[in-house]
Amino acid sequence: MKRRKFLQLGAAITFMLLAKEIPAIGTKFERWVWMHPNCDYSDNDWRMQFKYLKELGIRHIHLEVYTGTRVWFRSSTLAEMPCDLLSKILPLAREQGMRVHAWLWVMMNNNPEMLRQHPDWYVVNRLGKSCIEDPPYVKYYRWLCPSKPQVRDYLLGVIKDLEAYPDLAGIHLDYIRFPDVILPVGFQPKYNLVQKTEMPQFDFCYCPTCRDAFKQEHGMDPLHLKEPDKNFAWRKFREDRITDIVNTLVPAIAKQGKLATAAVFPTPEIARKLVRQNWTQWRVQAYFPMMYHPFYHKPVQWLFDATQEGVRQIKSGQKLYAGIYVPAFKPDELKAGLQLIRKAGGAGVAFFDYNALQAHPELADVLKETANREK
Ligand SMILES: [Zn+2]
Repeated sequence: MKRRKFLQLGAAITFMLLAKEIPAIGTKFERWVWMHPNCDYSDNDWRMQFKYLKELGIRHIHLEVYTGTRVWFRSSTLAEMPCDLLSKILPLAREQGMRVHAWLWVMMNNNPEMLRQHPDWYVVNRLGKSCIEDPPYVKYYRWLCPSKPQVRDYLLGVIKDLEAYPDLAGIHLDYIRFPDVILPVGFQPKYNLVQKTEMPQFDFCYCPTCRDAFKQEHGMDPLHLKEPDKNFAWRKFREDRITDIVNTLVPAIAKQGKLATAAVFPTPEIARKLVRQNWTQWRVQAYFPMMYHPFYHKPVQWLFDATQEGVRQIKSGQKLYAGIYVPAFKPDELKAGLQLIRKAGGAGVAFFDYNALQAHPELADVLKETANREK
C-alpha cells in the first residue's frame, strides 16, 4: 500500500474510532421524554421511575439540569445548585439501561447575578432598550446576545463542567434562539397582541456589538434600516450568530464523547420567522422540533407535514425526533400521531413532558400498549 493511501486509511480509522465514542442512536423508532429535576427522589424512587418509563418504551431522558438561574450538577457558573442530581441519577440510569441527556437553557438567562455583573451581555431591542429593563412578554424573558465572545466562552464553560460526568449520554441545547419577534399564534391572545409584522419592542438585537459587526460586514447600521424585517442580510446576520453559537458548542460536546441534540421550533420556516433559528444549518446529531400543534392552531395531522418538512431539510446522518405536547392529545389521537411521525420519516418521538404522562394515565396506557410494536 502506498504511504499516502495508508495515511488516509489511518486517518479514516482514527476518525471512526473517535466517532465510535459518541453513543450511537438506535435504528428503532425511539421514544424520549423531557423531564424536570427532582431532588427528593430516593434511589429506589428513581428505579421505579425508570421501570415505569421503560414500560412506556422510553429509554432516553432529557433531564433539565441548567436554567441559567439554577443548576443540578457541580458547576463553575453563578447559578444556585439545589442538588447534584446528575451524580445521583447517572449510576442508577446506567444500572437500568436508561440514557440521560443534560437539558440546558442556552440563550435565555435570568440569573440575578449575571444580570448585575454582565448587563452588556444581553440583547437590546429596536427601541434601544435592553431586555434587562424591558423584557418582552414576561418579566423573566431575558436573553444573552449571541454576538458576544464572552457569552460564547461562558457557554463553553457550562459544557466543560459536564465533562465530569462521563455517563451522561448527551447534551441537549434548548432556548437556543432570539426571543420571539412574533409569538406562536396560539399565544398572541394571551398577551393581547396581533402580530402580523415585526414590532420594534420585540425585535432584538440592536446592541453595540451587533450593530458594529453588521456595519463592518454590510456598510450600514441596522438601526437605520427602513424595513428591517424585509432586509435579508440583517435577518441572516442574526440567524448566523445563533448558528455560530451552536456550531461552537457542538465540537466541545463531541470531544466529551456525548451526543449533541437541540430543541427547536416546529419547522425550519416557522423557526426562522418567529425566533431567527435557521436550525437546518446546525451540526447537532439530532433535532427535537417542538411540534406543539395547539400552539399553532394546527390539527394532529400537521405532525406529518411538520416532520416531513424537517426531515427533508436536515443533513444526511442527522436525525429528527418530533417533540409532542402530551396534554393536547386524546388516546386515539396519540396513537395516530405516532404513526404519522413514523410515516413522515421521523426517527422517533419526544414527549413533553414526564409530568404530563403521569397526569394522563390514559395516554401512558396507549404508550404501554404500543411500546414493543414500533421497529
Ligand atoms: Zn447583540
